[in-house]
Amino acid sequence: PGPCILVTGGAGFIGSHTSKALSRAGYTPVVYDNLSNGHVEAVKWGPLIIGDVRDANHLAEAMREYSVAGVIHFAGLIEVGRSVSRPDLFWDHNLNGVAAVVSAMRRSGTARLVFSSTAAVYGAPAEMSRLREADRLAPINPYGDSKLAGERLIAASCAAFDLEAVALRYFNAAGADPEGDLGEAHYPETHLIPLAIEATMGGAPLTVFGSDYPTPDGSCVRDYIHVADLARAHVLALQVGGLDAGFEAMNLGRGVGSSVREIIAAVTAACGRHPAVVEGGRRAGDPPMLVADPAAAMERLGWSPQVRDLATIVDTAVAWRRGCGFGPARQGPAAA
Ligand code: UDP
Repeated sequence: PGPCILVTGGAGFIGSHTSKALSRAGYTPVVYDNLSNGHVEAVKWGPLIIGDVRDANHLAEAMREYSVAGVIHFAGLIEVGRSVSRPDLFWDHNLNGVAAVVSAMRRSGTARLVFSSTAAVYGAPAEMSRLREADRLAPINPYGDSKLAGERLIAASCAAFDLEAVALRYFNAAGADPEGDLGEAHYPETHLIPLAIEATMGGAPLTVFGSDYPTPDGSCVRDYIHVADLARAHVLALQVGGLDAGFEAMNLGRGVGSSVREIIAAVTAACGRHPAVVEGGRRAGDPPMLVADPAAAMERLGWSPQVRDLATIVDTAVAWRRGCGFGPARQGPAAA
């Protein structure tokens, strides 16, 4: 087995796809996860350590035990709406998680970090153009605030001691492993594409959160990117050299915006039937439009999204759902 990489949150959606990509690239992913949102079934390419990401001692022990060559830090809370109602939880898990990871890396002499960041750091951009890394950082919800604070803590740590890091700002991760090993399974599910698919299969109707945004069709516009493309970018980010002051942030998106109504149309085409849809009000914390300019990641990582079209992204998500995800037994949360 190749060099070990500690993958916090490696049992989750993006973390598990990245673990598979690491394994393909010759690394051994060592997953560190509390299984609050992750799935044991998604840990297939290396060992699983069950632990809390805020526990620096436990993290340092894991880093030393496996002599890890680097860390990819995914573990954290991700639902924008919930961050508005429970900012205390988001700051605790997301910022104290980063502090513990960085501290454990310093103590164990682990130098390379890739951090799971987000387009939510840009807030609600005034311009309806594609976002660049140097654009204004002004989150409009506690989720984005906590992730931006994490980036800043990491950048300061890179300046202070022997640490090099890349923060990857994901736009909207979607789709599923084309080989059917992995997919998206949150309980309860809050993400648009899986909810729209469910709504074509007799599940709850999909609520469109807002029809009065200043966008072409009035619904929110996002940049959906295939999860396997995100996964490959993490492997490249572990390896990239010449980091500016030891820290760089990079957008990961396709550079193409899709509205909620365009997603509904794509799901209708993929499933061969319309999802049940109801019109709802705006969701707290949602900006009208977030679309990436991914030029920096393309240039610095030699990366580009291989899945170019929305239809393929949605098709892989539908195939995963039709295969019953991780299985019919997995209908509830694994842990509190
Ligand atoms: N959305 C929606 N109905 C839902 C879930 C999401 O209209 O039941 C919209 C949401 O307002 C946002 C987009 O779909 O504009 C993507 O939301 P999601 O929660 O999938 O990802 P996020 O952008 O919050 O990371």
